Amino acid sequence: MSILVVGSVAFDSVETPFGKADEVLGGSGTYFSTSASFFTDVNLVAVVGEDFPTEHTDFLKSRNIDLSGLTTAAGKTFRWSGEYGYDLNEAKTLDTQLNVFAEFCPQLPQSYMDADYVFLANIDPELQLDVLKQVVRPKVVACDTMNFWIDGKREALIKTLKHVDILLINDGEVRQLADEANMVKAAHKVLAMGPKTLVVKRGEYGATMFTEHGVFSAPAYPLEDVYDPTGAGDTFAGGFMGYLASVRDHSDAAMRRAIIFGSVMASFNVEDFSLQRMKATG
Ligand code: AMP
Repeated sequence: MSILVVGSVAFDSVETPFGKADEVLGGSGTYFSTSASFFTDVNLVAVVGEDFPTEHTDFLKSRNIDLSGLTTAAGKTFRWSGEYGYDLNEAKTLDTQLNVFAEFCPQLPQSYMDADYVFLANIDPELQLDVLKQVVRPKVVACDTMNFWIDGKREALIKTLKHVDILLINDGEVRQLADEANMVKAAHKVLAMGPKTLVVKRGEYGATMFTEHGVFSAPAYPLEDVYDPTGAGDTFAGGFMGYLASVRDHSDAAMRRAIIFGSVMASFNVEDFSLQRMKATG
């Protein structure tokens, strides 16, 4: 069963205590699609600028990702730069340049419209809803976001969340969205906004899922070598949704297993910069 994803395709510049990468391939849509492609077929909706090299589109094609929804527009590709201290769980954004995403009005290819599994990766919540409205009857809609949109487009985000089944965000984002410091209270406030399931990503400490059935927690895979956590959340979501779509099951038991697959995919990704580690996995 294929997955439709809308998200950013980007050039990232990242510095961690263990190294630095400039203008490398990144973006929420890129990490998600690549990770999910290990489980199922992926249809990507995004926009890049004229500066986006064929080397990167060739890589996405090599993962069998359908790029008929990837538009090339006049202008520059989305750019993000960030840095991490020794606490790799927290990214500090230095700069975000939306560039071609600022004017992007996606028109889904006909072949994408009957998607059963939809992932609204981290991008403008208005764009997320725009894409979702074009899908005829999705079975499972999952979503990610970040502080940039919780701060900057809160109302639009709350509107999008009403149509979401599963929200996957990190612990800081849960607290910010709910405006509540206690995680359990915050999770219940977020569940009241629409999603039936909330998966809280907690970096090296794993992930915790809140549903009407209760709470499920799993640790992250313990790693000795972590170089760059950028994209870990999107890679986790790609493993999580990729698994659900591949077994066509989103019961509580399947989602618990999906968390383990998500953690495994994320554990590979953080071992190198950009998508190098997933590229090497083959
Ligand atoms: P993660 O580390 O999983 O939270 O995701 C990092 C990725 O998100 C990077 O590759 C960035 O290009 C992308 N990103 C950062 N800020 C934004 C934003 N405001 N909207 C969309 N994508 C973003």
